[in-house]
Order: sequence, then C-alpha cells, then structure tokens
Amino acid sequence: MSTLDVNHIDAAHGQLKAVHGVSLNVAPGEMLFLLGANGAGKTTLLRSIAGDHRAYSGDVSLAGADISALPAHLRARAGLALVPEGRRLFPQMSVRENLTLGAATARDGPWSVDAVYDAFPNLARLDRSPAGKLSGGEQQAVAIGRALMGNPKAILLDEVSLGLSPAAVDLAYAALAKLREMGLALLVVEQDLSRALRTADALIVMCEGHVTLRAKPAETSLDALAAASFGHIE
Ligand code: ATP
Repeated sequence: MSTLDVNHIDAAHGQLKAVHGVSLNVAPGEMLFLLGANGAGKTTLLRSIAGDHRAYSGDVSLAGADISALPAHLRARAGLALVPEGRRLFPQMSVRENLTLGAATARDGPWSVDAVYDAFPNLARLDRSPAGKLSGGEQQAVAIGRALMGNPKAILLDEVSLGLSPAAVDLAYAALAKLREMGLALLVVEQDLSRALRTADALIVMCEGHVTLRAKPAETSLDALAAASFGHIE
C-alpha cells in the first residue's frame, strides 16, 4: 500500500486553473520527484495535498485513510508534513524554538529536538541561535527538522535546493536519503533535473498544470525530462 495517494486533484487560483486532474502515489521509503518549469503548478499541487490550498476536486489518502476533508493542521496531525518553499522559519526565534513549533501538531513518535540534532549534527551547536542568522543550508535543515518533529509518515518538500550552495544541497539530500531509509514517503519538488535523475526512485513532470511525463530514472533521460517540462508528451 502507498503511504500517500493523491487522486485527480484539480486546483485553481480564482479563474486560473493551476492543477488539472493530477494523481500520484508515494510508497513507504520512496522518493518521488515532481519537476516542471516555473508556473507549472507544483507548489499549488503540494499546498493542495497539504490542505494549505483548497483543491476543488480530488482526494488525498495517507496510509489508506482519506484525509481530503481535513484542514491543514489535522492533515499534519495525521502524519503529512510540508516543508514550504522559502522554509518560512521564524527568523527571530531560536533553532530550538522553531523546531519545537513543529511538535504543535505532532502525532506520537520518535522525533524530538535531540533526535533532530542526531540527524543534523551541525544544528546542535546552533540550538540558541536565531534562525535568521543561519546559512541557507542550516535553515533548510531546521525546516526539515521542524517537519520531522510532527512524526510524519510522508513529507512534501518544495524547492529543496533553491538558494543553497552545492555543498548544502548535498547535505540536505544526504539527510533525505536517511529519512527514505527510515521508511518515510518523500515527495520532492526540484528544479535541478540532473540531481532529480540521479536521486529519484520515480519522477513526475508537470507543465501548465498537467502531468506530461511519469518515469523511473532508468527509463528516462535529461532531454526527456526537459522536453516534458516544456509540454512535450512522449
Ligand atoms: P514555481 O516554480 O514558480 O513555484 P510552480 O510550478 O510551483 O512554479 P505554482 O506556483 O503552483 O507553480 O503556479 C501555478 C500557476 O498558478 C501559475 O500560473 C501561477 O502564476 C499561478 N499562481 C500561483 N499562486 C498564485 C496565487 N496566489 N494567486 C494567483 N495565481 C497564482
């Protein structure tokens, strides 16, 4: 059984239809990459899955339970976490305080501030530092840590590597690889097609709100991913 089942989501911003009947599944321990050019509808889809944006049709199930009728905080409590684009930390608050906020809608489970510091050892020494003073990579680690504090079954990550140095991107993906090994379902929005091709278990490309390609890395190529990003359907 999949951890995350998304069925035929339609979503709009006013009159503008941004997501057209998109379906996807993410299994436990699977990393599914969602690709596409700016404006393809990736963020709208992620926010619709998380319940931050109201899809006007479609449904979302987590570990077999239909959560479509739940508001965002109850989807979080059911085990669905969103790491938003831009991280959205509280810059004046310390790393510990930002992490602790992630426990507000927590399910029972193994994650704690200390467990996050075990997973991201460079954060422990920043415990009392204001999050706004951290590097981009450190802030991304706090944002992922904050998601983990809710003991999620599935994590949606928007634009993981945006604005990070290559070394920080490597660190973020090393952490995600560990979460995949722990059996979490990961849905990752990424602009770097080559990184996605190297890292993914499976890939989905969107263009103008539609899915244009679904593939396993071994079955596709950078050229095919790029073509699908601009709407070419194989
Ligand atoms: P990006 O990589 O730029 O974040 P994206 O693939 O995540 O792109 P979305 O942000 O979901 O795409 O945008 C999909 C469409 O919806 C675009 O045409 C965008 O202009 C529009 N859109 C997104 N957010 C809003 C909003 N708050 N109000 C109106 N239109 C929006």
